[in-house]
Amino acid sequence: MRAVRIHQFGGPEVLTYEDIPDPQLRKDQVLVRVKACALNHIDVWARKGLPGVKLPHILGADIAGEVAELGEYVTGFTLGQRVLLAPMHFCGHCPKCVAGLQNQCREFTVLGNGVDGGNCELIAVPWPNVIPIPDSLDFNQAASVPLVFLTAWHMLVGLAGIRPGQTVLVLGASSGVGIAAIQIAKLFHCRVITTAGDEAKLEKARALGADEGINHYKQKISEEVRKLTSKEGVDIVVEHVGAATWEESVKSLKSGGTLVTCGATTGPNVGVELRHLFARQLRILGSYMGTMGELYEVLKHIFAGRLKPVVDRTFPLSETRAAHEYMEKSQMFGKIVLNI
Ligand SMILES: [Zn+2]
Repeated sequence: MRAVRIHQFGGPEVLTYEDIPDPQLRKDQVLVRVKACALNHIDVWARKGLPGVKLPHILGADIAGEVAELGEYVTGFTLGQRVLLAPMHFCGHCPKCVAGLQNQCREFTVLGNGVDGGNCELIAVPWPNVIPIPDSLDFNQAASVPLVFLTAWHMLVGLAGIRPGQTVLVLGASSGVGIAAIQIAKLFHCRVITTAGDEAKLEKARALGADEGINHYKQKISEEVRKLTSKEGVDIVVEHVGAATWEESVKSLKSGGTLVTCGATTGPNVGVELRHLFARQLRILGSYMGTMGELYEVLKHIFAGRLKPVVDRTFPLSETRAAHEYMEKSQMFGKIVLNI
């Protein structure tokens, strides 16, 4: 099959489009013909070098395609069926997995990170990963869903315990997690304040339902939040930017508020003012992906059209380097998708 692999860590130039042997199908696996694979920041981190990534390696977490072959033990699917893949690898039999907490499994990793991903024509995955999709969703849209919508759902619903009527600050409206978090918070009838680097992106965020927009290059986030909330602050902050916005994010919380973080795009080292943390009774929560149960919950809303994936643009698999270069310029609003 054709695939894009990395044989060493580095810039986009290490992405190599080449012929490799087809994957071997295990008896408990489904072979999927990949049609679309969306990019995530984790692809860039893995390309640059993450512990657990073995070379040569195939990137790509968010996969949609068609069932090409079924392992002997697999039932319930038909050849050619349109599916997306749960973007995770887990053992399936440890106490955490059988309790439905797959993202706490000791073997847990993201597809295309600790195991090979979908920047290729064929991928073999355990059958619990394979989820049929309705005809209303094309492959590019389907591939734009799993990682970011699961992450945002776990952050807001699973961890922060979002409730109707709350005020939610979503950092980085144009990112995949931002786009998902804005819509999920609106699904819960919350007031959404979001941030972006220019007015065009803020306009697109408002079209997704955001109530207020802050230009994080021109305005100070916590000051604007204070103005917009009558000095009260927000109930929940969805943080994934890291060092560049951390202090502003913490300052934007109301007393008893919750900051939930899933990423550190601008750097991982931040300070915590302990007197603020205890005196204002703040909760700071770390989030990594989500569970299979949560994926099915959020997909219900995607399949019903209540939550909408946003595709920025597509590239053919042979132009994966250009797709990575485009992603690193951060000009996109929504997902960048490789077509295979
Ligand atoms: Zn497990």
